[in-house]
Amino acid sequence: MKINKNKNFIYKIINKDLKNKKYTKIHTRFPPEPNGFLHIGHAKSIYLNFKIAKIYNGKCNLRFDDTNPDNESKIYVKSIQKDIKWMGYKWNKKIFYVSQYFKKLYKYAKILIKKKLAYIDKLSKKEVKKYRGTLTQKGKNSPYRNQSVETNLKLFKDMKNGKFKDGDICLRAKIDMNSSNIVMRDPVLYRIKKNLHYRTKNKWYIYPTYDFSHCISDSIEKITHSLCSLEFLNNNQLYQWILKNLNIKNHAKQYEFSRLNLEYTTLSKRKLKVLIQKKIISGWKDPRMPTISGLRIRGYTPQSIKNFCKKIGVSKKNHLIEFSLLEHCIRDHLNNIAYRFMAIINPLKIIITNLPKEHNQKIIVNNHPIYKNMGTHEIYFNKTIYIDKNDFKEIANKKYRRLTMNQEVRLRHAYIIKVKNIEKDSLGNIKKIYCTYDQNTLNKNPSDRKIKGVIHWVSKKNAILAKFRIFKHIFSIKNPDSQKNYLKYINHKSIIIKNGFIEKSLINHIKQKYFQFEREGYFIIDKKETFKNKKITFNKTISLKGKKH
Ligand code: ATP
Ligand code: MG
Repeated sequence: MKINKNKNFIYKIINKDLKNKKYTKIHTRFPPEPNGFLHIGHAKSIYLNFKIAKIYNGKCNLRFDDTNPDNESKIYVKSIQKDIKWMGYKWNKKIFYVSQYFKKLYKYAKILIKKKLAYIDKLSKKEVKKYRGTLTQKGKNSPYRNQSVETNLKLFKDMKNGKFKDGDICLRAKIDMNSSNIVMRDPVLYRIKKNLHYRTKNKWYIYPTYDFSHCISDSIEKITHSLCSLEFLNNNQLYQWILKNLNIKNHAKQYEFSRLNLEYTTLSKRKLKVLIQKKIISGWKDPRMPTISGLRIRGYTPQSIKNFCKKIGVSKKNHLIEFSLLEHCIRDHLNNIAYRFMAIINPLKIIITNLPKEHNQKIIVNNHPIYKNMGTHEIYFNKTIYIDKNDFKEIANKKYRRLTMNQEVRLRHAYIIKVKNIEKDSLGNIKKIYCTYDQNTLNKNPSDRKIKGVIHWVSKKNAILAKFRIFKHIFSIKNPDSQKNYLKYINHKSIIIKNGFIEKSLINHIKQKYFQFEREGYFIIDKKETFKNKKITFNKTISLKGKKH
């Protein structure tokens, strides 16, 4: 068996377990609830669980934790599978569902009742909460705690058969209302839910809680290391209690690691759902979302996400991870794989006066500055071209390195141009600029003067119309989760749409997917938007290094 030298504490535990022959095979699981799309926080868990399986030549199950029919749906089951596959992971055999264990779980619950370790409580939800106490105040026993086994079994059966309404009664473990661990103060094991379950339909009116179902599902699937986020730390004791009292042998142990928190967003599915419901964003796949689907449509690659997960590591300390780390990871990957083209996002027309109308000079340029095997494409230099409005200033100071009335500039891959005069409309807006070009400067600098800047351009004949969608963070503050009213901090200008041009020859490389528009940033085609707009539409993934969004 290969022993991994990785330093994170989970690997250390696994290494030790293997050395001590506690296990011979390592088996993990990723247990999403199908109540939303996966996000980058889930990616951390996926990366950890699937990577462990891979490194140790073990297995990782995909198990849908579908014990709450209120919010779960097939749509999420599908999207979760798609996202895990996209990240490049394969789960063990078939997919597992907690709902496939409902019958078994029901039997186990009856065993606990018979052992006087569980009872039906008729207290209301509010009362259960009140009786539970607080960190400083002990709990109080429910008056139903010592009901007979027969009564409990009968009520549990009635509960199962739908004789009660949601919230009327519940099944609780009988542990210790004085425990210093609040989780152990008679936790709820089963509750009534009358909504239709997306898989079992109306077969069940009662559903096991996470605490009750998770440990048993882990043992049924012979999971060896059950890894979850830190908020379940106090539930660990209950995990062990249930398995011990059900005499379930060879069971897994739960280990907790810190949840990922990322700047300028929230990784709570509930809060993300609110953003969708309030139409602040278009849905789970919106490129501004921290979801795996959102990131995919934004232009992130599986490798960049995995690299991010590797860099953040696994620990027991909660941090707010800098968004710039995620950006660094995608930039780093795209720098190697993105095809370089030119695009004009804020077009400004330039007329080259010393070129005849029919002039159309072909220039061959590399698709990548280093990797020549990525090939070349053609651009065309002629009389009418577009540059970006931001690359021209009528009056500018000496630091300005782009085109001004008295400063020449190089057109990338082509010639040096110089302004002759400007044409403005009646409102004083610049309509077009007339320039001359220096025909001796194709890819070579003049000997008599220094040229400060290079700008990108696209010639009119070689341009096709394109739409660009540029994104900002959804939230205006770094840690919206720290605020009670996180909705107060929505950035309502988180999407900017621009109409401009791209080089025609990009169409021949459309299969490449990831593009760098020189000096602008990395972009990806948004297929859905392209279809909707009837115009090729790009999502901006990320700006180039050192540039703001
Ligand atoms: P909710 O957002 O409703 O609290 P959840 O985020 O726990 O739910 P699940 O579908 O239950 O969502 O999560 C599946 C797995 O992913 C769990 O093991 C959970 O610990 C892990 N996970 C969820 N969010 C994060 C996160 N931000 N960082 C690391 N792991 C996470
Ligand atoms: Mg959960």
